[in-house]
Amino acid sequence: MHKINLSKKQSEIVNLKEGAFLIEASAGSGKTRVLTERVKQLLNHNSSKILAITFTNKASEELKDRLSLDTIKNNNVFVGTFHSFCQSILEARFKLLGFQKMPHIFEDESDRIEIVEDVIKSIPYFTPLYKEMDSKERSSYKSRVLSFISEVKRELAEPEELITDDGEEHFLMLYNEYQDNLRSNNAIDFDDLILLIYKLFINNEAARSLYSKAYNYIFIDEGQDLNKAQYYLLKSLCSKVINNIMIVGDPNQSIYGFNGSAPKYMQTLFVEDFKAKKITLDENYRCSKKVIEAANKLMDLNVEAVNHVIEGKFEIQRSSNELDEAKFVVSKIKELINEKLHSDIEGEIDYTKIAILGRNRFVFKHIEEELISSEIPYYFKSGNNGVKFETTFMKVFDNYFRIKINPSDKIHTRKLKSLLKIDDFDDEYQIELSKYSFFSFVKNIVDHLTGDNMKGSIKQIENFIKENNLFNEEDQLQIANEVEGFKNLWKTYSINNLKPTLTGFKNAISLGTVLKNVKEDGVCISTVHTMKGQESEIVFLIGLDDGTFPYYLAIEKGGEELNQEKNNLYVAFTRAKRFLYLSYPAIRKMPWGDNKSRSISRFLKVFIKQ
Ligand code: ATP
Ligand code: MG
Repeated sequence: MHKINLSKKQSEIVNLKEGAFLIEASAGSGKTRVLTERVKQLLNHNSSKILAITFTNKASEELKDRLSLDTIKNNNVFVGTFHSFCQSILEARFKLLGFQKMPHIFEDESDRIEIVEDVIKSIPYFTPLYKEMDSKERSSYKSRVLSFISEVKRELAEPEELITDDGEEHFLMLYNEYQDNLRSNNAIDFDDLILLIYKLFINNEAARSLYSKAYNYIFIDEGQDLNKAQYYLLKSLCSKVINNIMIVGDPNQSIYGFNGSAPKYMQTLFVEDFKAKKITLDENYRCSKKVIEAANKLMDLNVEAVNHVIEGKFEIQRSSNELDEAKFVVSKIKELINEKLHSDIEGEIDYTKIAILGRNRFVFKHIEEELISSEIPYYFKSGNNGVKFETTFMKVFDNYFRIKINPSDKIHTRKLKSLLKIDDFDDEYQIELSKYSFFSFVKNIVDHLTGDNMKGSIKQIENFIKENNLFNEEDQLQIANEVEGFKNLWKTYSINNLKPTLTGFKNAISLGTVLKNVKEDGVCISTVHTMKGQESEIVFLIGLDDGTFPYYLAIEKGGEELNQEKNNLYVAFTRAKRFLYLSYPAIRKMPWGDNKSRSISRFLKVFIKQ
């Protein structure tokens, strides 16, 4: 990132003395920028001990890049997400929380679903009722149970408190059984991670005080997305000792309500509990005139564009259907690339300056095909989730690796047994007959794996893939790619950790804190949620038909849920630095097969001349 001059108001924030501050300002006003500069400044000028919590792993990486690894290693600095912060504490303190061994994170929703299913089936009274349900009813029932469990943890509630309807009393039993089942796998879920450390802090003063003394400045980015558990975790960490805390955020960008997040934690609770001083920034440094005018109109705001000399573009396209929408985007991309230079855009226009955004991934269905047939390079931006392997070889490897380092893990033991069609991993005869003959090789490697011989073992895997004619050319290439990915993950993990361990590595993969090495080359395709906090010169925002954006379920619910959809649209608009193209199909093929005529998103009606 090139050097920029901060505005007077921004510099004042960077140079603030001690205290609690809320920087509440709109998108593109330089909140993250100011946060980063202040962290840098504090590290350069004294031996500050800093905790900086960002919302995504990606944002953490960016902040770490700007601070340089040496600065981080030589100082007491922690940059990461709430989850990675809690994970690092858990690694050191799991015994205090009643675990014999470091628990493993079950990051995959399918693992949680499997546990709930087991739990339901284990309760005799309930099994017949479950059996009567058809598959759709079963999955909606399981997801209701899972969201109940999540909510209890995120809201720091007792399960009893959240039972509102008659007939939901049995959720209590399911909650307890689910927790016991996770425990018996020596596992925890994402919500537990926050809850456990919160509990540690409130129940163990010695531990709390140790962490509280470890930092004298705390920073939180995207503060509007704090939920109850995260806020109280923060509060319990700080209590009395640290009061140098800065939260930056924008209530209009609150889009994680489904996760229990709400701007009130920063706007009301933080301000009252910490007597925080509120400071605003009123200028937009990111967007062109046309883009900021549109964003202002959408949200009824009045933010000034600093780049007002840059005109930019804001256009709305109606396509006859989804395929035409994809063709419109791709032909526009070609046009822009051919144009090469545009006075509004710095440097030559290339693919990396273009992003295609949508509310859900399904709106990209045709885009991918069109990009491929036009030979335009693209990549999907990945969010906070851990790494998933797609090839059978790596799935087998990953599952066996999990079991080896966590022998209590019954869920993945079962998964692997059914994948291999065997029921004993130590029976040589069965191994020989297992569905995939490479299992004996994988087993042998993983059985001998340690942190020290990881590099050599990966080399052996690479040779095995190359030299064996077990796989066809295409599979071989794909497996090699995934092995390469795994190798890079280990490299990143072992550089960043003084004491690399296999369990630590596995959990870092689950949390996504060692980023998958996807080359971010070409046109970026992303959901709006994943693009949060980031920006792109040219943005295409597609699938803007009512029912898709806002999503039909939010329309049905109305109120705050619908409002969050509008916020999400505002986030999408404000990712664009220069050009913003919106589009919607007049006909959409629905998941159940019929074609439905669609009208423009209700939020965009303000842009249509009557
Ligand atoms: P969001 O709410 O979307 O997270 P933000 O408020 O965090 O936005 P930043 O990402 O910090 O905004 O800044 C937006 C863009 O403006 C970045 O490209 C940043 O480098 C640039 N910027 C910030 N302050 C200035 C400045 N004083 N001069 C020039 N550019 C600036
Ligand atoms: Mg930001």
